Amino acid sequence: MTAQIKPDFDVIAVGAGFAGLYLLHRLRGLGFSAKVLESADDVGGTWYWNRYPGARCDIQSIDYSYSFDPELETEWQWSERYATQPEILRYLEHVAHKHDLRRDIQFSTRVEVAKWDADASLWHIRSEAGEEFSCRFYVMASGCLSQPKAPEIEGTDRFHGEVYYTSSWPHEGVDFSGKRVAVIGTGSSGIQSIPLIAEQAQALTVFQRTANYSIPAHNGPMPTEKLAQLEGDRALYREAARWSRAGVPIEPNEEGAMQVSAEERQRRYEAMWGAGELLGIAGAFSDLLVDPVSNETLCEFVRDKIRATVQDQATAELLCPRGHFIGTKRPCLDSNYYQTYNLPHVRLVDLREHPISSITEQGIDTSDETFEFDAIVYATGFDAMTGAIVAVDIVGRDDLSLADKWANGPQTYLGLMTVGFPNFFTITGPGSPSVLSNMTVSIEQHVEWIGDCLSYLSSNGLDVIEPTETAEAGWLQHVNDCADITLYPRADSWYMGANVPGKPRVFLPYVGGVDTYRGACDEVVSRDYLGFRLQGPGKQQCNDGVVRRIQPDVALVLEFIDSLALPPMESLSVDDARAFSIAMAAERPAGPEIGEIIDKVLPGPVGELCYRLYRPDTPGPHPIVAYFHGGGWVLGGADSDDPFCRDLCAQSDSIVVSINYRHAPEDKFPAAPNDGFAAVQWIADNAGMLGGIPGQLAVAGWSAGANIAAVVCQMARDGGGPGIVGQLLLNPVTDCDLTRQSYIDNADGFVLTTALMQWFWDHYADSADRVDPRASPLRASDLSNLPPALVVTSEFDPLCDEGIAYAEAMSNAGVSVRHISARGQIHTSLTAVGVVLSGAPVRKEMGAALLEFFGTAPPSEL
Ligand code: FAD
Ligand code: NAP
Repeated sequence: MTAQIKPDFDVIAVGAGFAGLYLLHRLRGLGFSAKVLESADDVGGTWYWNRYPGARCDIQSIDYSYSFDPELETEWQWSERYATQPEILRYLEHVAHKHDLRRDIQFSTRVEVAKWDADASLWHIRSEAGEEFSCRFYVMASGCLSQPKAPEIEGTDRFHGEVYYTSSWPHEGVDFSGKRVAVIGTGSSGIQSIPLIAEQAQALTVFQRTANYSIPAHNGPMPTEKLAQLEGDRALYREAARWSRAGVPIEPNEEGAMQVSAEERQRRYEAMWGAGELLGIAGAFSDLLVDPVSNETLCEFVRDKIRATVQDQATAELLCPRGHFIGTKRPCLDSNYYQTYNLPHVRLVDLREHPISSITEQGIDTSDETFEFDAIVYATGFDAMTGAIVAVDIVGRDDLSLADKWANGPQTYLGLMTVGFPNFFTITGPGSPSVLSNMTVSIEQHVEWIGDCLSYLSSNGLDVIEPTETAEAGWLQHVNDCADITLYPRADSWYMGANVPGKPRVFLPYVGGVDTYRGACDEVVSRDYLGFRLQGPGKQQCNDGVVRRIQPDVALVLEFIDSLALPPMESLSVDDARAFSIAMAAERPAGPEIGEIIDKVLPGPVGELCYRLYRPDTPGPHPIVAYFHGGGWVLGGADSDDPFCRDLCAQSDSIVVSINYRHAPEDKFPAAPNDGFAAVQWIADNAGMLGGIPGQLAVAGWSAGANIAAVVCQMARDGGGPGIVGQLLLNPVTDCDLTRQSYIDNADGFVLTTALMQWFWDHYADSADRVDPRASPLRASDLSNLPPALVVTSEFDPLCDEGIAYAEAMSNAGVSVRHISARGQIHTSLTAVGVVLSGAPVRKEMGAALLEFFGTAPPSEL
């Protein structure tokens, strides 16, 4: 039950940066009373605090600005492509003045405690000075990069000279003329400030622990082409930004780096280098942030640029980043950074080789040298994304502390709210695109979402909102799923919390893209605030659920297929369906390199059957996997699952023999299982000739091919051989009953539809034959004494339930069965090698299961 005590304000927000300023304006416009509390003595947030020389935005100014006020858009002209800190601060001051925001901002007020009062349904806020406020809704607009991290260096308070932090630079500026200066840290703040400090200082020593990738900004006047693009149709431009990957309208590149020649790669990288755009880096190719080999090509390109710029090659090598992939730590955009090391009074000290042992009264001691300085500049970064939030003692329902709840990493729903903390919002919180995007776009989206949400509550007589556990857990899973297919988690970055000792290593932002994220937020609203519990006096509503369950890369594939607006396959003739599936297959990545591939024929029951043999590149002989391709008994051939077969071969260190059984409707049931059985018999008899180990034979198949594999196992058992050591059944067809729940739940939209499955069955077997165990192996009267099995089912597959039923039935009959339920996958995604990266762990498990069938250890390189 919610109470109706009137708080001091409808909303209190912490922070008067880009986020807090717009939030205040927006809430006022919606009729809410709002107050902003800010520890600084004026507006600006990041741009109030970070006044170090060289501070600029690294997203072009026309993108890194508000879009909510069309008048502001035309009255404010940026003087440069990448505006300086003073100019951005002036802009925010102008916004505050124009919209008369300062009257509702209380400056010099640090919020220390926020406590939820469940009886009154409101938040009590207390400042450092002990002032108390109450509000119905509490918003942390406190910034992702606003809580400086301690340098964690011994003796920092001992130094007698001048000490500066880039994150709280003196307002009056600093004159380094004639001084010996040290800069510790080579992230964006260090890289921006070093060239300008070097211009003044008598001597500059840079202490580098990790070299960073930086590309030249080529700053200058506003680019006329981009300006024209914006001014041509501002609304369109801004809308494109809102629905872009990173909050800037850039055409995504669909090509992988290794799909083009070395010359073309170099050409694109040169163009990227010349363009001076941070987002252009990852945009040069589609796979730079997911594929280590592709990424390394760009790393090496940048290293070559460093070598060509820095004259002293020993220094150049130290400046060449190693040990993390480009883009996985925030890269920098610089003006003359590498060139600065050609100045005679600038020196680079490598802390990897000689770490700082202590700050001393006179300077810095490293493990092998003593340095004396007049000034030390710490450019050592922030406790990012969560630091400012948990710095406030936020206490929610049942005295739950947010710091405790997030002790093992933040848990949020959409990066907007967190379970246990009703009416508490974060702007650009962990689990949202935030720092991986143009922040102004992400800030505006959050502000507007929150404003709309509060309006919805108020117009529906509701006043408390909180996410559900299900929704939050589902979102966290999705955030991790998105990160796990990228290279990001491999870096010791602040995105991972790795820069702060003791901070849990979890990937903090949402890497799925601004567009995808916005789509999810909109969908949540359109589904009656899916995953939120909403309450008001005498009423409540909750449509519980998870907004994104499909694996992110599978969702992209589905989106792509949707965009083709293809006719349903079951509406095609068999010939056209076959031609179409061949055409689609031609577009796939090839799959891993293996030892060799041979196409041959083997004798079938009524003529020769083609087969394709995949041999590992390790010394033989090898175990053999007889493989049956998918395609609903109608489509496909020995080579149609080529990338998957290569992958199986590499993962299991086995020969894979993919057999082209006869297809329907030309050859209906039982031609396919008869061919399958004959082929397996022949492979067993000819194992030595094939380079295999006699007796080491497993069967595998996908979909209808898994149906054949399962049936072959039953036939071999009943026919007294051949010996089969294991069966790998991926999304198997095991029964002709198309009324199971998974057929209903996944009837449409996941490539294999219920209608298409019906079409396959109609071509394959007459009604009377479908119940034959050689068509529906689940219907066999005896499922005992079958080879050990791995059954893999996919969550969004009409065939999911019959796969599970077969695994259970075999297990009940005493067969050793392992079942993997592939979360978020569809019928066709696990075989999409090189496309659906989220399927890789399951493919690895399939390979491992084959190795286990054969009683062999995994190859060392896996
Ligand atoms: P902030 O601007 O960080 O404002 C938060 C405010 O909350 C601060 O003023 C802080 O004092 C206040 N606050 C925090 N805790 C409390 C408390 N307990 N009590 C009272 N007040 C509190 N992003 C980009 O997209 N492009 C860029 O080019 C870019 N450049 C950047 C350059 C630098 C040097 C830094 C540090 C960050 C940069 N960022 C950039 C990220 C930048 O932080 C955001 O773009 C944006 O400015 C954040 O706005 P905000 O209002 O969310 O937070
Ligand atoms: P940062 O990227 O975290 O860099 C901090 C640097 O300090 C790193 O080189 C780090 O080394 C080093 N460091 C930290 N502790 C150290 C220690 N004890 N001893 C030695 N070295 C130490 O922080 P930042 O440069 O302030 O940038 C943070 C983020 O703010 C950026 O990534 C960016 O998002 C934003 N930003 C943007 C701009 C811009 O161009 N617009 C400018 C500044 C900041 P390790 O890497 O080894 O930890």
